[in-house]
Amino acid sequence: MKAIRYHGPQKAFRLEDISRPEPQAGEVLVKITASAMCHTELHFKSGLLDLGVAPVTMGHEIVGRIEAVAEGVSSDRIGDRVIVYYYAGCGRCHHCRIGDEQLCPNLRAEYGFISDGGYAEYVAVPERNAVPLPDNISDVDAAPIGCGVTTAVHACKLANLGMAEWAVVYGIGGVGFGLVQLARAKGARVIAVSRTEAKLKKAAELGAEFTIDASRISVGERVREITDGGGADVVFECVGTAETMKEASAALGRRGRLVFIGYSEDSFTVHPIQLVVFEQKVLGSVGATLDDLYEAIDLVKRGIVRTVVDRTLRLEQFEDGLKALEQGELVGKLVLVPGSRSQIPSS
Ligand SMILES: [Zn+2]
Ligand SMILES: [Zn+2]
Repeated sequence: MKAIRYHGPQKAFRLEDISRPEPQAGEVLVKITASAMCHTELHFKSGLLDLGVAPVTMGHEIVGRIEAVAEGVSSDRIGDRVIVYYYAGCGRCHHCRIGDEQLCPNLRAEYGFISDGGYAEYVAVPERNAVPLPDNISDVDAAPIGCGVTTAVHACKLANLGMAEWAVVYGIGGVGFGLVQLARAKGARVIAVSRTEAKLKKAAELGAEFTIDASRISVGERVREITDGGGADVVFECVGTAETMKEASAALGRRGRLVFIGYSEDSFTVHPIQLVVFEQKVLGSVGATLDDLYEAIDLVKRGIVRTVVDRTLRLEQFEDGLKALEQGELVGKLVLVPGSRSQIPSS
């Protein structure tokens, strides 16, 4: 089968022919129909994120149908439309016991990170990781739930965002669009920040009460203005560059929570006096729990959150996708659809 594989830091991803995975006991074989691209792939490419496993098939936002089951799994599951939960924890450590598999120090698998993922025609995962999808969400629309919406759900919980609080969503991509809608649904007042007008327009459509074009004005100052000097209760930092971290910190109010989701090569600097006298918190949020995924699917099913898909491409057009991701030109997610080579437009 065709697969897009990572070969190590600063090496090109390659489209290769590899053998179809064999589901092991307790696993299902998923025929992939849609895989969303995540900004994380750029961090793999640059070497910023190096998990020391290569070669490995990329892609962790995976949707498909169960085509076969291995020993220990009921054949009733064959034909199920599913979305993959991409962590498989050890099941024994403290974090796994309380459902925080994303923090497991002994992961058995992490699809698209240290285990073969979704930029391929098939993937084999434990049965519990293949979560059923409702009929009213299409495969392509479901793909961005896997990381984009689940990450937003998880970060919202960690931030403990309350009703009528001010939430700044700094950086509007797959996670950002989810955060805007979730924060709005929780009754918070949402300020979306981006350097791209089209993304801000979409964020406003999805519930942002204010938008700030970071390429034109100081975000910290503008947030202070909007909030009558108080600053934001929560800033979701989805970018993590020196510039955005400085502005995010400047936008934070008393008892504010600065939640890091995005990162870059840059480090965060803050004088502790700011944290002390304003009782602020700085925290990080990574991935999501299996339960967060169930919640995310339910939120999309009920129309509380809509996924935003910019375009779909064939699996073989992955490099074009990567370029679009690098240039920041996408408004929403790019979804790869596996298909035969003959289906690619000849241009
Ligand atoms: Zn992701
Ligand atoms: Zn564990």
